[in-house]
Amino acid sequence: MTDKLLAAIDLGGTKIYTVIADSELNILSRVQLPSPAREDTDTLLSCLADSVHTALNRAGAVRRNLAGCGICVAGFFDSRNRLLLDSPNLPQIKNLPLEKELEKLLGVPVIAENDANAAALGEARYGAGAGSRNMAFVTVSTGIGAGLVLDGRLYRGNRGFSGEIGHMAVKPDGPLCGCGRRGCLETVASGTAIARSAQELLTSGRKTALAEIKGKISATDVFAAAAAGDPPAREILDEAIYCLGIGLVNLVNLLDPEVLVVGGGVANAGEALFAPLRSILGKKAVTHIAKNVTLKKAALGQEAGVVGMLCLLRESCFRQ
Ligand SMILES: [Zn+2]
Repeated sequence: MTDKLLAAIDLGGTKIYTVIADSELNILSRVQLPSPAREDTDTLLSCLADSVHTALNRAGAVRRNLAGCGICVAGFFDSRNRLLLDSPNLPQIKNLPLEKELEKLLGVPVIAENDANAAALGEARYGAGAGSRNMAFVTVSTGIGAGLVLDGRLYRGNRGFSGEIGHMAVKPDGPLCGCGRRGCLETVASGTAIARSAQELLTSGRKTALAEIKGKISATDVFAAAAAGDPPAREILDEAIYCLGIGLVNLVNLLDPEVLVVGGGVANAGEALFAPLRSILGKKAVTHIAKNVTLKKAALGQEAGVVGMLCLLRESCFRQ
């Protein structure tokens, strides 16, 4: 087994996804484990290290083959002080020196990054944005996040917190957001927002096909009901997609990207989402920008974050 293997971890609220790759970034093994989201930090860290050891083992390698490890996580990773300040999925974490702690367990250099930033870099290098130098990536799932690759490089902002498009204020008097403010984009346009609107529709007593669904209604159910011709489901989507479209208009007007990539669970709705978004961008973004930006569906799926971390690792480990 060749030396200089790289490990990349995507630490989520429900799962830990870890891969091992060679220096050409060919993925040699993959491991998915449940995330110990409610356990203490030490347990979490040892689960992360275990996932790397398991992935190495599956690749037929051992720890001394490893050159570095990258980890991406939802939350505020302070790229200046190298601390994970907090993470919405991991309430036990406060000001964690994630890189240092994992370095102790793995014995190799570790780099950490916000998950949307990592996914943006992955999509820009190997996914829907490959070949572009200016790309905005927006993920729409339970929340809404973004990552920016500008002039060919990941743009982190001052401390690594750029891309918080989910908290762009679109309805200042709107619903309360998890961040404590009102009317953030993700309170009106995320998968969670679509599901909440469907729940409100049911309690309103208005006739809808969604009333037939047993259990919790998801955004996917709302897309299916709208496609089958249910007017209230259609109205929920029209409103959510319009708000998302306005967020994207503001984003492209600010950045003038070549490619705008949209991913996340809600993007799996395909043209039911992309056709109206394309139309809103065409009508509402500045003409010269709208004409030159291509809207694309993300190509790497759950692999985007780890691919982005492998790109960052290659840039930091093998450049010397
Ligand atoms: Zn917010």
